[in-house]
Order: sequence, then structure tokens, then C-alpha cells
Amino acid sequence: MGTRQRFAIPDGWVARGFRFEVEPTSAEQPGRIAQSFGSRRFAYNWALAQVKANLDARTTDPAVPLLAWNFYELRRAWNQAKDAVAPWWRCSSKEAYASGIADLVVALHNWSDAKAGRRAGGRVGFPRFKARHRDHGRVRFTTGAMRLEPDRRHLVLPVIGRLRSKENTRRLQRLAAKDRARVLSMTLSEQGGRLFVAVQAIVCQQPQTPSQPQTRCGIDLGVGNEWAVVAHHDDTIERIAHPAPWVHTHTQRRRVARQRSRRIVGSRGHRQANAKLAALDRRAANLRTQSIHTLTTRLSSRYGTVIIEDLDVAAMGRGMGRRAFRRTVAQAGIGRVRPTLAYKTAWAGGQLAVADRWFASSKTHHGCGGYLADLTLSQRVWACPWCEQTVDRNANAARNLRDWTGPVAADSDGDRDVQRGGVAAPVPLVGDHGGQAHAPRGACEAPQDHPRVAGATDIRTDPGSRSKGRNPEQGYQPASAHKRSLSW
Ligand SMILES: [Zn+2]
Repeated sequence: MGTRQRFAIPDGWVARGFRFEVEPTSAEQPGRIAQSFGSRRFAYNWALAQVKANLDARTTDPAVPLLAWNFYELRRAWNQAKDAVAPWWRCSSKEAYASGIADLVVALHNWSDAKAGRRAGGRVGFPRFKARHRDHGRVRFTTGAMRLEPDRRHLVLPVIGRLRSKENTRRLQRLAAKDRARVLSMTLSEQGGRLFVAVQAIVCQQPQTPSQPQTRCGIDLGVGNEWAVVAHHDDTIERIAHPAPWVHTHTQRRRVARQRSRRIVGSRGHRQANAKLAALDRRAANLRTQSIHTLTTRLSSRYGTVIIEDLDVAAMGRGMGRRAFRRTVAQAGIGRVRPTLAYKTAWAGGQLAVADRWFASSKTHHGCGGYLADLTLSQRVWACPWCEQTVDRNANAARNLRDWTGPVAADSDGDRDVQRGGVAAPVPLVGDHGGQAHAPRGACEAPQDHPRVAGATDIRTDPGSRSKGRNPEQGYQPASAHKRSLSW
């Protein structure tokens, strides 16, 4: 919201987001949707022009008062000016203009906060004017005729009207019908030729307890062949494979990107290649999201305490080594595991503990305390210098995390900088910070079977192959993807 005021959520309620893919139900709807997107963009650009003109005037004459970067002020100015600058304004909902102005106010504050060092994360540029080809269409509605239809297949937005949801809206509709959910806003957006409605709601949630509230588990995340290694309460080790379809999708993506580079910008072939690329990207993103959600839901509903390592994912993606490695870091999406776990453990009644970034979970032998200082990145198995046992790197790290007894940081606000990918202190490249930041080089290209270590019960899960049958993304269909991208 552009107001910079936080909506106070009543006790016993939590804020939740729901996202549904939708499609238009009438022939004139695509036009109205495009108009709403354009109206939002117009109001954004208009307000930005006011702000820029004001800043320019102040550089020449400091006596000019500063225009308040305030949603209500700017909206009032818009309402006074709209008859002159946009006599057609009645064709869209007033919410479309308000959402553009609200987004600009957020963007301006992000810029000034980043400049003053009040905001975690990377640098933020001054807001730019939006062009139709650069800005992906979106519009947010906070009031008016917006609701979920009782048939659980349709959503209604002001001015735009009824949209058909491709997915059953039951998970939200039944709560709303029982007054256990209140819709705060609905955002219609376009991504890769598809339309989505994101519903922001507050939901009344009964307090829950995990099935094993007294127990704990440790998760070690990596970007290699083993995406996550979980040390369970009963000392079983679960290895979750890096979902293989990502690699496959990436190979296809390279091919299509090369195809597109040979085509003339603006031609039909170029548009087709673009639609193909968008479909592949969406598939990779969906696979990633699914792996993250299945893992985090399972762990948070079972354990009272989940322990995870404090990874500097942003630094991993920024700095280290080959492009292929940095890409793997981004593709693995491990930066999203911790924020997801943070809210899910809170809902499930458990807690998330974050082990210290300098905790040597990989280099310390769980059980005997032996320490191998010069463990290299490529060593997946090492011999303990004290007890001379063979130590499996990832399983050992997960066990160490599970039995972590250091200060438990309540992860209420800490997940915010992970989500934004920003951490203040840079991490030394080959420092001792738990090791898992450094996956063995080439591990994703040349998967090798993991040596068994005595005493470990291994469970292997492969989210990629298991989800094949149920995956909503049924592969790529060029004709329909193309048609979809042109349909509105
Ligand atoms: Zn040992």
C-alpha cells in the first residue's frame, strides 16, 4: 500500500495470499482489462511527472515547496487534474488510477530508503516512466464489487466483471462464506501471456500444533545434486534430489533463446519464440515453487522446531565462480526456503531456528566433535581426523544443524532480508561459514551416486519424477501458447 501505514491484523487472524489463474468470460473483457492496465500506467506516469517537475523546480529555486510523496495527496491532485489530462477516465475503475499512484509512492520511498541506507537489499533506482512494452500489466482493486462467486469457479472484479478461474477457488471461498476470511484486495496481472488474480486476505486461523511438537529436525540446503538433506528426529537422513526437469527445461530454453535471436524483432516467428520461452520459464518456476512448498509444508506440520542454516544466498549468486554455478544458485531457489518455513512454522505452531552463519556445520564431525579445517568445496566425503570415520558431508551438516544449541534467533523479522536477497556483511568466499554455500563444482552437471555411510538410514525423494503425473504444466504446446499470448 502506498500509505506506508500497516493495516493492523486482528488477533487470531493471519494475512494470506491466494493466487488463481483466470481467463476472460466475454469477448469485450480483454479490451477492458488492457484499458485498466493502461489507466494504472497512465496515473503512475502522470504522478511521476508531477514529482519530477517538482524536484526540477526545487533545484533551480529552493523556495518551491516539496511535493508530498503521499498517496492521499497525490490522489487528490489526480482527481483535480483528471478531467483535463484524461477526459476518458470514466472508462476504468478509479481503483486503477489509485493503484498506479500507490505503486509510485512505494517506489519513491523504496528509492529514498535505499539511498539513506534504511532498506536492506540492493540499490534501487529512481522510478522510471512506464512504457507498455516494458511494464507488465497489473491493476489492484481494494474496494468495489470484488468477490468470489459461490460456484467456486469465478471471481468478480469492478468494471472488468466476471473472470473464470482455471482452478477451483474452494480454499478461499469456503472461508469467505463462513466469514473466516476477509478479502483486502485483488490484483489482476498479466505474466507471460496469462492472467492471474492474486487475492490478499486475512484469515481467521485456529491455533495449531505440529504432530511432533517436542522434536526437531535440521535441513541442509545445497545447489548440487542433493537439493536438501534433512536430518530427522529419529536420525534418518532424507535426501531430496535437485528436481531434474529444471536441467531439462534449461536445455530447451537455450535452444529456444538461440532460435529467437535469429528471428526479426516484431515478426510472427519472434513472437512465437517469445511465447515458447515464457512457457519454459513458467514451467521451471512452477517446478521450483512446488518443491519448496512440499518440503516446507511437510516439515513444518511435523516438527516443533526446524533448524536451518543462515545462508547468504545473495552473495552466493553474486560472487562465486562460474556463471553456471551462479545460475544453479538462482535456479535452486534456496533463498525462498527460509522465508517460507518462517511463516509456515508459525502457522503450524512450531518454530524456525536459524543457526549462526559462522557455525561450521560441514566441518565438524557430528558425534565426536572432530574438526577438519581444510575441507574443500569438492569433498563430499571426508575422514574425521579424530575418530577416522568416513563422514558424509551433507548428512553430517544436517545432523549438526538438528542438534544446534546456539542462540535461537526468532525468525520474525530476519526473513525479510533473505526475501529481498540483501545482507549487509559480505561473506568471505572460502570462509568457514557452514560450508553449504559452496556446492561441489560441476555437481549439477555430473550427478554421481552418493557413497553410503555406515549407520545412516537413507530415504531418497525425487520431487521431479514424483510430480510428473500431477504437474499442472503439461509441457509446452506452441500453438496454444502463441494463441494465448495474442488473445488479448
Ligand atoms: Zn569423528
